[in-house]
Amino acid sequence: MINIAIDGPAGAGKSTIARSLAAKLGFIYVDTGALYRAVGVNAMRKGMDTKNAEQVTSILGDTKVSLRFVDGEQRVFLGDEDVSLAIRTPEASMAASNVSAIPAVREFLFDLQRNIAKENDCLMDGRDIGTVVLPEAQVKIFLTASAEVRAKRRYDELLAKGMKAEYNDVLEEMIQRDYQDSHRAIAPLKQADDAVLVDTSEMNLEQVLEALETIVKEKTGNEF
Ligand code: C5P
Repeated sequence: MINIAIDGPAGAGKSTIARSLAAKLGFIYVDTGALYRAVGVNAMRKGMDTKNAEQVTSILGDTKVSLRFVDGEQRVFLGDEDVSLAIRTPEASMAASNVSAIPAVREFLFDLQRNIAKENDCLMDGRDIGTVVLPEAQVKIFLTASAEVRAKRRYDELLAKGMKAEYNDVLEEMIQRDYQDSHRAIAPLKQADDAVLVDTSEMNLEQVLEALETIVKEKTGNEF
């Protein structure tokens, strides 16, 4: 199987780009952030403090998170409930970042991610895909952009989805989330030694896609 790992901070454009690139390659696109979001939302719903490792760990036994792919689109389920939309709120973002620092949560989601990659040509995005989940991926890309550009993109995305947001709140949340994600003890956000760095601050979607296609072709020797 061909596995492509895309890591980077929030709002770097990973999901938009990964989705287009996966469609072009005929690969499935796996958004691993959705898994942490689902665990975070579940913990919030159960009234847990999402920063409290003991509380969050205590409900993992009753937590069923799964991914289903419908027409190539990933849907994330908590038990039988499709929570794909419910996990996209700013509160869910912070809850995801909080629970993702808990080792038991990372362990809980590890096999699910590995098994998908074992059985499918896939493009997987997250924070630790190239470093921890798929260290042997044939292609690794670290996608980043300045905090201001990333916050503006996320802000526009929220408005487009009809959600209310203030740019300054989005920026502040993003900076806090990046800090938490890169400073946690386990699987912190960082570029793998063999990942190619792509800074998208000054690039549009087509340019990023083109850059990534070139990297994938070079690394896999495949023409798509
Ligand atoms: O990518 P997304 O913004 O949806 O991720 C939500 C949160 O999940 C991140 O802020 C990060 O804390 C966590 N995450 C992670 N490892 C991954 C993917 C996401 O820790 N592979």
